[in-house]
Amino acid sequence: MNSNIDQQELDKFNSLASRWWDPESEFKPLHDINPLRMGYIERYENDLTGKKILDVGCGGGILSESMALRGAEVMGIDMSETPLSVAKLHLHESGLKVDYQQITVEQLAADSPNSFDMITCMEMLEHVPSPESVVTSCYKLLKTGGKAFFSTINRNPKSYLFAIIGAEYILRLLPKGTHDHSKFIRPVELNDWVVAAGGDVKDITGMTYNPISKQYLLNKDVSVNYLLHSVK
Ligand code: SAH
Repeated sequence: MNSNIDQQELDKFNSLASRWWDPESEFKPLHDINPLRMGYIERYENDLTGKKILDVGCGGGILSESMALRGAEVMGIDMSETPLSVAKLHLHESGLKVDYQQITVEQLAADSPNSFDMITCMEMLEHVPSPESVVTSCYKLLKTGGKAFFSTINRNPKSYLFAIIGAEYILRLLPKGTHDHSKFIRPVELNDWVVAAGGDVKDITGMTYNPISKQYLLNKDVSVNYLLHSVK
């Protein structure tokens, strides 16, 4: 169960982690999309005050902190050590409270099922050997009626062109080798894992990048990046 990690993937994040909070670094895309995904979450859960939220694959804590800022009681888990230390250090700067832990979602699900009001798992599923196992564990961790939000990258020729050739080689938004096209996930696959885990998919929304305006937008086009909202 604990083998659902890919050490090479974790090492990529370990080596870059010191720059996590630099909005002009390799993590610029995460900073840029963060307001959009917060907006997406708040479309379905407009008051995060006091909500018990788990952020799976939290990295340096960009999303975890945004949710804590809105009054949520956030736990952030990740299996890369350095991003987690960066996340913990950043709390001294922000003055926020987040409970960061190095534990797999599978282990946490075995330890404390049915304990979260909301789970976010953003830009993480495409980095693990079995994303389905992550989805299943997230669902074990959710209380009945709880909401789960996932985001990842679609798998098709266009996403190869945009998310790999465009983002890593032409626009250089991300370091080469950040993503492996074969690990991308079609919306129908993610949908089926959520349903098999006992979830009800409420919405799938695309996120597109315009290289001219350098703006990200939420829209109907799910051909590359997309977000999914579901309820247990
Ligand atoms: N969710 C954050 C970070 C995305 S980067 C955000 O969107 O802002 C992807 C993160 O997934 C990295 O921090 C990496 O360490 C983490 N990750 C990769 N495999 C993991 C695993 N098996 N378990 C937990 N975290 C993992």
